[in-house]
Amino acid sequence: MRVEIIAVGSELLLGQITNTNATFMSKHLAEIGADVYYHTVVGDNPKRLKEAIEVAEKRADVLIFSGGLGPTKDDMTKETIAEHIGLTLELNSEALTYIESFFKRSKRVMTENNKKQALVFKGSTVLNNRTGMAPGMAVQQNGKHYILLPGPPHEMEPMFIDEAIPYLLAENGTQEIITSQVLKFYGIGEAELEHRIQPILERQTNPTIAPLATADAVTLRITAKASTIEAAKALIAPVEAEIREVVGEFIFGVNDDTLSSKVLALLQAKGYTISAAESLTAGLFMAELGSEPGISASLAGGLVVYNEQAKMTQLGVSQQVLEECGIVSAECAAALAVKVQERFETDIGVGITGAAGPTPHDGEPAGTVWIGIALPNQVPITHKLLLSGSRNANRQRSAKFALYYLIKALTESVAN
Ligand code: ATP
Ligand code: MG
Repeated sequence: MRVEIIAVGSELLLGQITNTNATFMSKHLAEIGADVYYHTVVGDNPKRLKEAIEVAEKRADVLIFSGGLGPTKDDMTKETIAEHIGLTLELNSEALTYIESFFKRSKRVMTENNKKQALVFKGSTVLNNRTGMAPGMAVQQNGKHYILLPGPPHEMEPMFIDEAIPYLLAENGTQEIITSQVLKFYGIGEAELEHRIQPILERQTNPTIAPLATADAVTLRITAKASTIEAAKALIAPVEAEIREVVGEFIFGVNDDTLSSKVLALLQAKGYTISAAESLTAGLFMAELGSEPGISASLAGGLVVYNEQAKMTQLGVSQQVLEECGIVSAECAAALAVKVQERFETDIGVGITGAAGPTPHDGEPAGTVWIGIALPNQVPITHKLLLSGSRNANRQRSAKFALYYLIKALTESVAN
């Protein structure tokens, strides 16, 4: 199956938005073994869209379009394709009822042009839109498949997964179920991870294992095909176990977990509260936690104690620790964690101190960072980082590493 993705929208060409729809679709098409050879982007212009379709028809079996299904005048994807492939548009009564109920629910008046959204190709498979109004559609004509999806990602993504992928699988004669499990890693690079699991990677055909690095984590997607979801999961389980055996120490979560969402879940599981004293990160750690809805029950607050004076006067870190061990030291990170834990009367205290760079700080080379974690009734844990990025990359990574080490400490404490 050769697929071409055609994203329609002048805003894509003007650089106002990024073509994330193509990225999303490509990732999932790869999982079902479809070959995506081209991504095309074309503006809201019927003549140029028609030209793009003509080119795509020569090199693909399936043309997937995103965008231009809405009610406004510049939305003309359906009309252009209908004319090009010789299909008529007809009003789909189910879609119209759905659109009307959408307006009733939101107590808005439905204008006449909204009816246009309920028009679909005669004889096509209607793809339901669970998160918006305009339905998608799929049709085979002259030996090619044409699949039309809405532009907004929150509408396109569920429709693609729940409706378009099953359509393609059915058209391709497979009734197979595809499911995947994503493992999320921190503290290990993509290359190192691949290297360590190379023997497992080489052996796999079903499930397949796909590594992917993003700014926040390195991920492994394990994808299996089988006749039932249970059978697919049973194929994934032993491979996941084998991966955990080798590199499990770097796994902080699965699927949609992020470092901060995982910390929140663990804090909630234990009923723990937390506070932080931040030096080089100057609040980045708390900002990460602050992005989680519902964090207020767990995060009490914290202090940015940037210079030596503030560490002593605001938090009560002893002059002796700072003079004998230094600002960039395990002792200082541990003292920050314990003092903030006492001051905010929380179960957990986190301290972060280090040399962000580009120059050394207090005798320690740029990129040296200490993270202290004080858990209830325990000697504080400390971790040393040796980072090699720019000043701000080091600061960001310090905050993320603090979340990662906190996950490890909490996971062990939850297990006990
Ligand atoms: P609407 O009913 O909202 O008009 P539509 O199907 O007509 O939906 P467009 O008008 O083309 O879609 O795009 C609507 C919005 O969807 C865009 O402003 C943009 O925010 C988003 N969008 C469109 N195409 C893409 C794309 N390829 N990648 C990411 N986002 C997109
Ligand atoms: Mg539109």
